[in-house]
Amino acid sequence: MSKHLKTARVAQGTGTPPAVTEAVERLLAQVAEGGDKAVRELSIRFDGLDRDSYRLTDAEIAGCVASLTRQERADLEFAQEQIRNFAQAQRDTMLDLEIETLPGVVLGHRHIPVANVGCYVPGGQYPLLASAHMTVLTAKVAGCGRVITCAPPFRGQLASKIVAAQHLAGADEIYCLGGVQAIAAMGLGTETITAVDMLAGPGNAYVAEAKRLLFGRVGIDLFAGPTETLVIADDSVDAEIVATDLLGQAEHGPNSPAVLVTNSEKLARETLAEIARLLAILPTAGIAGKAWEDCGEIILCDSLDEMVAEADRIASEHVQVMTSDPDYFLEHLTNYGALFLGARTNVAFGDKVIGTNHTLPTLRAARYTGGLWVGKFLKTCTYQRILTDEAAASIGAIGSRLCHMEGFVGHAEQANIRVRRYGGRNVAY
Ligand code: NAD
Repeated sequence: MSKHLKTARVAQGTGTPPAVTEAVERLLAQVAEGGDKAVRELSIRFDGLDRDSYRLTDAEIAGCVASLTRQERADLEFAQEQIRNFAQAQRDTMLDLEIETLPGVVLGHRHIPVANVGCYVPGGQYPLLASAHMTVLTAKVAGCGRVITCAPPFRGQLASKIVAAQHLAGADEIYCLGGVQAIAAMGLGTETITAVDMLAGPGNAYVAEAKRLLFGRVGIDLFAGPTETLVIADDSVDAEIVATDLLGQAEHGPNSPAVLVTNSEKLARETLAEIARLLAILPTAGIAGKAWEDCGEIILCDSLDEMVAEADRIASEHVQVMTSDPDYFLEHLTNYGALFLGARTNVAFGDKVIGTNHTLPTLRAARYTGGLWVGKFLKTCTYQRILTDEAAASIGAIGSRLCHMEGFVGHAEQANIRVRRYGGRNVAY
């Protein structure tokens, strides 16, 4: 039986707090009614940014790109190349399909890119420029036509590195807008911003909730809120690397869960001590320490099966596996946003540079979805055709009887007319 060596003080996975939902509903209604004027009011209120237009000019964008050092630009382009290459490889697996399922009956599907996409790049606490590659660039690889993007100002100024990343990723329009006002402006449209068909990208609880509430009116990629991490480890690794990986994600925010699942009591106890040591020196200890105190957990398990069951129950956004046989977990785990196998790699590689997407499901959404990928920007649309009169008549007869079972007389007649016209007979009931 598994047992907790450390429990979270704040219950995990309980969904968006009602106060956040209510606040977001009010803000969405304000933008729906007030358009650009409301967007400006909210931008001043939440981000202290007052502009006539929140769309960046070509000169502003060029200035942001030019402000990168040579090394920054090279690193950013390297990361974008990795993300583009993997997204393109994934795109290449999304094959259109056409198959003759019965003699004369042809069914198929095509993957059609969403035409208009709005990508959110978070930037309240940190300018998360990597999210530009993960959203804008991935949408472009999918073939989406118009890809617009919003990021908040960083400490009252244009987030120049985000803007550079958005531009290099291929964005068609760039806005300096954050939070609910950004999501509302893109999703609902305003006098000056044409509404998109789909919203993508991670963000804080307000951003994630705004996307969730707009779902239906527009598409969304997934529920990607405040970050979570889970480390599965055994005695094959040391406590320093485990503690580093837990705190490295806890620094995202004071509500970021970081969980260790282990079968080694020795490692668990050493990790507790190591976290205390690192928190004394980590510059972001103010956030990471609070996250660890409130949301950190250590779960001690008796077996590998139990470790799998605990990790699947939690369904964390990131799952880092550092055990003697990481592939066991690749084979058996089913609920996670992204897996990091072995001590050589880690969540930061995935977040920033390695090529997989970092926009991932949170609050246990990993039970029903993976992360953002090129396929999320494609609509898989089916089509059909019938090549012979006989196929039309024989499918039509069965279809007609099935329509009658449901009481759909008009539907049945659609089938009947084809049985008569192409088969020269009436349907036998
Ligand atoms: P953010 O850009 O998501 O949010 C900043 C905006 O929040 C501000 O522009 C402001 O308009 C709005 N805001 C702040 N306080 C508000 C309030 N009280 N009411 C209404 N709106 C308010 O940036 P952030 O806050 O730094 O959060 C980024 C988040 O993105 C983190 O929680 C991080 O964990 C998460 N993230 C998730 C993933 C994922 O894939 N799940 C990936 C990367 C980052």
